[in-house]
Amino acid sequence: INFSNYPLSDVILEAISDLGYESPTPVQQAVIPAILDEKDVLVQSQTGSGKTASFGIPLCEKVDWIENKPQILVLEPTRELAQQVQEDLINIGRYKRIKATAVFGKASYIKQKSELKQKSHMVVGTPGRVLDHIKKGSLPLEKISCLVIDEADEMLNMGFIDQVKEIITRLPNRKNTLLFSATMPQTIERLSSSYLHDPTVVKI
Ligand code: AMP
Repeated sequence: INFSNYPLSDVILEAISDLGYESPTPVQQAVIPAILDEKDVLVQSQTGSGKTASFGIPLCEKVDWIENKPQILVLEPTRELAQQVQEDLINIGRYKRIKATAVFGKASYIKQKSELKQKSHMVVGTPGRVLDHIKKGSLPLEKISCLVIDEADEMLNMGFIDQVKEIITRLPNRKNTLLFSATMPQTIERLSSSYLHDPTVVKI
């Protein structure tokens, strides 16, 4: 199986080829078609499995470039992960000129606010700072149709789960929810059954 078997634009396929990815990993083979079909997904897999590109590729494909307001929100437990995922999304979306903004604590709020004011198709952030931007009105939510909860078990370990739930309830037009976790403790299973609709379940 090859990336060109999926209904992906040339601009996305070209970026994948630049990254040196020749064929999709098992997680990507399971997840890419499900997200392209606009299904919810629940994925249990380790880092190193190619999970970032498994959501990055189909979500970059789906972004409407013309729309200036954020369409995709990705939650990460740490600043480092938020920056890493932002970089991966920028690389995948390079030839589509996709803008991905990262927001996280202990960094300038003002600077992030002005980045969010520019065109920003995708926002990647830690829950606390994402909520700050939401409450202060610097992160418009009305065009966000897809939420990615990445490293959900880490989010739980770090005490962010209530903030994650608060963010979910504030999204007025959420259509898809993608949940990734290395382990599936009961709290994450419950989060999934509360907020995911008939998800494609992938365990690799
Ligand atoms: P992740 O699991 O998202 O942390 O990805 C682990 C590493 O695998 C990253 O360095 C990616 O750039 C790389 N990677 C992701 N997908 C592929 C692929 N299909 N082929 C080769 N490397 C990949």
